[in-house]
Amino acid sequence: SDKQPISFSEPVRKLTRQARIECNGHVVTVGGNAPVRIQSMTNTDTVDAVETAIQVKELALAGSELVRITVNTPEAALAVPYIREQLDRMGVHVPLIGDFHFNGHTLLTDYPACAKALSKYRINPGNVGKGEKRDRQFGMMIEAAARWNKAVRIGVNWGSLDQELLADLMDENSRRPTPWDVRQVMYEALISSAVESAQRAEQIGLAGEQIILSCKVSGVQDLVAVYRELSKRCNYALHLGLTEAGMGTKGTVASASALSILLQEGIGDTIRVSLTPQPGESRNQEVVVASEILQALELRRFVPSVTACPGCGRTTSTTFQELAKDIDDFLRARMPEWKKSFPGVESLKVAVMGCIVNGPGESKHADIGISLPGTGEAPAAPVYIDGEKRMTLRGDDIVSQFRVLVEKYIEE
Ligand code: SF4
Repeated sequence: SDKQPISFSEPVRKLTRQARIECNGHVVTVGGNAPVRIQSMTNTDTVDAVETAIQVKELALAGSELVRITVNTPEAALAVPYIREQLDRMGVHVPLIGDFHFNGHTLLTDYPACAKALSKYRINPGNVGKGEKRDRQFGMMIEAAARWNKAVRIGVNWGSLDQELLADLMDENSRRPTPWDVRQVMYEALISSAVESAQRAEQIGLAGEQIILSCKVSGVQDLVAVYRELSKRCNYALHLGLTEAGMGTKGTVASASALSILLQEGIGDTIRVSLTPQPGESRNQEVVVASEILQALELRRFVPSVTACPGCGRTTSTTFQELAKDIDDFLRARMPEWKKSFPGVESLKVAVMGCIVNGPGESKHADIGISLPGTGEAPAAPVYIDGEKRMTLRGDDIVSQFRVLVEKYIEE
């Protein structure tokens, strides 16, 4: 046969410059050979230091490796050291990122304790003024970062683009024999704003390694087009995120689609999934979705994966759904403890299947799997371990019997 083996297309990360984000001696690296990092942002009023510290802690426990907080007023800047202090007291060493717009130059200069307590600053070059004022104010923030040895994300957003730069590019475009599409001019403005701001920051004295760039837009195809080009034009670490992705399923799917395309191409060193929480929904959901994206792409592993079939007319009862959920919850709940005792446990694959059609096959692909009896099948559930059928479970408590087997497998 002249058939060639089909390659497994593992994402090959682009090697960017690596930023070091420090917090009380703990370092989170971003870029280079560091794993793709998960970020999130609080939605509390930063002035409420207790509430903000609690939310930061929850996000960190959910898996956020960096947490951004708004620093928009002198009162918020005054609260920042207290937030840090409370987190330190709770033993939460997640780096805090200050999100600055409009008045960041004043806050970072007038409130040194805030500038010091933060581990990284996010600066939006579209929101720092115009002309000479913009250059001076941007310079003040970069000088603060260099003085306190902090990393900076230069975060451009097409909802707040540098209007002067955009006007210049529009003007230049109007003189082209064949003008570009307005969207292409916007892309150029986003990328130029990020890259030129980064170059200016380096000229002012910030090390290139301490610069992370982002160009956020709210459309999937726009994000892909912009980041492909941004990645070609620079070697800074890149932060990926679909801004204003939206609520619930729409936001989750849009973020997963955009981020997956880019991550598969090796683009992106840190990600945020910007979901609008629905009433009563935890802020942690954005961290859960970000973790699932990285795990699905096999870029990182956080928890054992549970393969479950969707179920169909062949599933006889709700036992199958209950078992899949029970095992998933059980594995997630035990992870903090297992991680310490059983290195590599996050790579475990468990299968919970609904009938004989795909049950045995899928269970054999997993480390441990169970095929529940479907309609018309004998009331017995074969269990497969390391690809071999080892036993058959029967009775009303198959769920707890299988849970014991999973636990035993991990321990052994
Ligand atoms: Fe349906 Fe069986 Fe396939 Fe599950 S494995 S979806 S129960 S046919």
